[in-house]
Amino acid sequence: MSVTHAPQTTDVLTRQDPELAEILLGELHRQSSTLQLIAAENFCSPAVLAALGSPLANKYAEGYPGARHHGGCEIVDVAERLAVDRAKSLFGAEHANVQSHSGSSAVLAAYAVLLRPGDTVLALGLPYGGHLTHGSPANFSGRWFDFVPYGVDAETGLIDHDQVRTLARTHRPKAIVCGSIAYPRHIDYAFFREVADEVGAYLIGDAAHPIGLVAGGAAPSPVPYADVVCATTHKVLRGPRGGMILCGGELAERVDRAVFPFTQGGAQMHTIAAKAVAFGEAATPAFTAYAHQVVANARVLAATLVDEGLVVTTGGTDTHLVTADPAPLGVDGRTARGRLAAAGLVLDCCALPHADTRGLRLGTAAVTTQGMAEKEMMRIAALLAGVVRGEVESVPAREEVRDLVGGFPPYPA
Ligand SMILES: *Cc1c(COP(=O)(O)O)cnc(C)c1O
Repeated sequence: MSVTHAPQTTDVLTRQDPELAEILLGELHRQSSTLQLIAAENFCSPAVLAALGSPLANKYAEGYPGARHHGGCEIVDVAERLAVDRAKSLFGAEHANVQSHSGSSAVLAAYAVLLRPGDTVLALGLPYGGHLTHGSPANFSGRWFDFVPYGVDAETGLIDHDQVRTLARTHRPKAIVCGSIAYPRHIDYAFFREVADEVGAYLIGDAAHPIGLVAGGAAPSPVPYADVVCATTHKVLRGPRGGMILCGGELAERVDRAVFPFTQGGAQMHTIAAKAVAFGEAATPAFTAYAHQVVANARVLAATLVDEGLVVTTGGTDTHLVTADPAPLGVDGRTARGRLAAAGLVLDCCALPHADTRGLRLGTAAVTTQGMAEKEMMRIAALLAGVVRGEVESVPAREEVRDLVGGFPPYPA
């Protein structure tokens, strides 16, 4: 087997470090022979991988284009300006910072801009799909800020807007965060803006998951509403692993200083170049079609899971994300995930609103990149339910998975 997306690199590795080359090929084999249903994952393009594996990785570049602490930055400055300009134009933002090493570091920088330790922040509670950076006691956010969690309606699974408004009025937070790792529906950014304005709070949109749908016009944008938008570049957006921040011109300088030097050191120029490539790809009609297909696929996946007897949170989805409770099939999420992993369906457990047991979280970003459509989603949902019920043993299930993914190689030769 060869790695067709980065032949030179792999040839060199195979010759110099066969031990590591084998690991790399093993992972490529795992990714292309099992079903990637982790909602936060995707397959970035060979062009993105090429930028990531480029000599830009060698360059130290503390600071920003035109104002670096290191010499020799004239070329990488062009790469960063290109990434910034493409991000601004893609999302209609006045300012973009593309240096955040991850989604979490983007959120850390956003808090550094707008908050002081001890400030009160309103965010979706972790049991309802809040991210670790939204007040987990295990994370800096929960340690340094006073988080007040809002939740979702017990019946509908939708964000409880009345509760958000009441908590905002009671606690007068310095900032309100909207964004989630598992919420399958669109977020009403206009509503959050209105509440933030009423209580004099900043609005932080953590769009790590849906930002790729936003780029493709398949989800509403937080950019016109939030003071600061944090995002990742590696989820639906299909770029390299990393983060970014979008904001208005008035916060531009403070955001930049919050990223470097406040929370990070030297920029990773190979990743920034890869982000530029991904923004370029995301601006094409092909990506718009992709983003809409991602949502169409998730809707069919959700509907078929409902037909199979699972309880899908909110009854469906507007995005790439589906969360489901397998309890009616006789097992909890953890057991289900184990059975599915043995069968070659790779996905996550997640907290379920108002349930003690865990559920399953699936996403369609990766399988859609592979070219799968509605028909394959039905097949996946039926197979998933069969495996969870214990009707399909792992060996025949693995064969079915191999048959399914065989027609959709993520990196065709
Ligand atoms: C993925 C995610 C993050 C963090 O991204 P990392 O790159 O893993 O640090 C932050 N917030 C939300 C809502 C996310 O979904």
